[in-house]
Amino acid sequence: MSEVVAHQLLDGRRCSEALRARIAEEASAVKARRGRPPHLAAVLVGQDGASRTYVESKVKACEEVGFRSTLITLPETITEDDLLHRVKQLNKDKELDGFIVQLPLPAHIDADKVTLAIDPDKDVDGFHPENLGRMVLSQPGFLPATPSGIVELLRHYHIETAGRHCVVIGRSHIVGTPMSILMSRNAYPGNCTVTLAHSRTKDLAAITRQADILIVAIGRPEFVTADMVKEGAIVVDVGIHRIPDATRKSGFRLVGDVDFEAVAPRCSWIAPVPGGVGPMTITSLLLNTLKAC
Ligand code: NAD
Repeated sequence: MSEVVAHQLLDGRRCSEALRARIAEEASAVKARRGRPPHLAAVLVGQDGASRTYVESKVKACEEVGFRSTLITLPETITEDDLLHRVKQLNKDKELDGFIVQLPLPAHIDADKVTLAIDPDKDVDGFHPENLGRMVLSQPGFLPATPSGIVELLRHYHIETAGRHCVVIGRSHIVGTPMSILMSRNAYPGNCTVTLAHSRTKDLAAITRQADILIVAIGRPEFVTADMVKEGAIVVDVGIHRIPDATRKSGFRLVGDVDFEAVAPRCSWIAPVPGGVGPMTITSLLLNTLKAC
C-alpha cells in the first residue's frame, strides 16, 4: 500500500512578505546613508500584454519596499541601434543602480546583443554572460531572478537538499540551466545530484520518478502528472499559463506546468501556481537591486 503524505505549501507569497520587509528596512538605511533610495529601471519594448503585466508588477513591488522605480516604454518599431543606445545611456546613469530589459523583444532585435550591452554591474536580471559565469564559478554577482528566487524559497522552508536527487525539467538560459547549476553548487541550498531533462530526454517519467526534488520549467500547462512524481517528493512548479475558465469572473484561471490537484497529495512540499515561484522572482529582483547599491 502506498504511503499517503500530507503536503505542505512552499508559499512564495509568505516567503516574499518576510524577505520584502527586510528589503524595505535595508532600503531606508540606504536612503539615510546616501540620500536616495535604491533605484531600478525597467525597459519595456512594444505592447505585449503579458510583458506589460510583469513589468508593472515589478515597478509596484519596488514602490512597496521604498525603492525608486522608472518604467521606460519604447515603441515596438524601435531599431536595434536605438535600443542599444538607450542601454548605454542607462549604463552611464549615476542615479540608477540597476535595470532590466523585459524579454521577449520584437523579432527584429537581437536579444543577446542587448543583454551583452548591459553593464554587468547593473544587470539585476543576472542574464549577462559575466554574471552567469560568476554563478558557475560561485563568485559574487547577480543570480538570475527565477532560479535564485527558488533557492530562497527552499532556504526559507529549511528544505534539506544535500545529497538529494534534483531533477530539473527544461534547459532555458533563464530558468532550467541556471537552476541545475545552483542546485549542484557546493552550498546551501545545493549539493544535490542533478539531472537536467529537456525536449530530447527519453522516458522522462522514469527519470522524474527518481526525483527527491523536482523543478519544472517546461512551459506546458499541467504537463507533470501524478504518475511522474515519487511519493514524498518536493515539487517546484515554475510554469505559468492562463487557461480559459467560464466559471471565473476574469474568464481564465492560472495553472502551472504541474497538475497541482493530482500531484500535491503525493508531495511532502509543493510550490503552487499562482503564489509560489512568481512572487519569489520579483523578490529576487529587489534583492539584486539592493545588492547593486
Ligand atoms: P522555455 O520555453 O524557454 O524552455 C522550456 C524548456 O522545456 C526547454 O528547454 C525544452 O527543452 C523543455 N521541454 C519542452 N518540451 C519538453 C518535453 N516534452 N520534455 C522535456 N522537456 C521539454 O521556457 P522558460 O522560459 O524556461 O519558462 C518555462 C515556464 O516557466 C513557462 O511557463 C514560463 O512562463 C514560466 N516562467 C515563470 C517565471 C516566474 O517567475 N514564475 C519566470 C520565468 C518563466
